[in-house]
Amino acid sequence: MAERPFTPLVDPPTGTSADAPLVFTVRGDQVHLAEVDTVDPDELGEGHLYLGQLGGSDCWAVDVDGDDEPDVLLTPLMALHANVSEAEWLVAGRAVQLVQWRRTHRFCGSCGGPTEMVPGERAMRCEDCRLMAFPRLAPAVITLVTRPDGAALLARNAAWPMPMFSCLAGFVEPGETLEHAVAREVEEEVGIQIGRVAYQGSQPWPFPHSLMIGFHAEYESGDIDVDGVEIAEADWFTTDELPPIPPRLSIARRLIDEWIAAN
Ligand SMILES: [Zn+2]
Repeated sequence: MAERPFTPLVDPPTGTSADAPLVFTVRGDQVHLAEVDTVDPDELGEGHLYLGQLGGSDCWAVDVDGDDEPDVLLTPLMALHANVSEAEWLVAGRAVQLVQWRRTHRFCGSCGGPTEMVPGERAMRCEDCRLMAFPRLAPAVITLVTRPDGAALLARNAAWPMPMFSCLAGFVEPGETLEHAVAREVEEEVGIQIGRVAYQGSQPWPFPHSLMIGFHAEYESGDIDVDGVEIAEADWFTTDELPPIPPRLSIARRLIDEWIAAN
């Protein structure tokens, strides 16, 4: 089935949408998705946001954090991936991020005054000093490093509860290019130097508000020397002796799958 395109909008278009509206009920990182007959914004409560249209369906987010026990069954966003379409899951990620953004920006970061939604924009503004706040995104690079013999470097993160090996990843720092971030993260985490870096694709990663930017990097020099803090172990692997790798919903798995297909 072709994925329905999503059009982000701040205000609902006038008139009824072609398809049944979708309501994403959000509590922290937990979501419930319901297809409903109609939506009356006044009945969605104060903590609601219009998100845009998925195909012909208006999409709404409702914040029930802090409310009494909600009357719907909420699912962690990560687990929801198995229950809904890819397009719906991406909108659920938007819903979680925008609800959390609004919840954590009720007061100005500069003067502490109350904020208000800016009409017609995805922004909040301080009522006192007029400082604007926009939805927060933290860009992170994720990299698969390979050697000329085809082997790929996979690492086990010390914080992961499961013994899984994946690509190297880290946040982009202010003032840094993506290519610099890739080279710095690889050197910091496993002590090797890389040569050519090539962009492979990206993925919204709403845990809690990242954008993962995927790269392939060619090994240049150095021996693996893990930092022992973020990375517990790392090694070169060939496609016929793979360790446990991440599930298919992540761009890490996509980078690894592309390497497997090419080797
Ligand atoms: Zn202010």
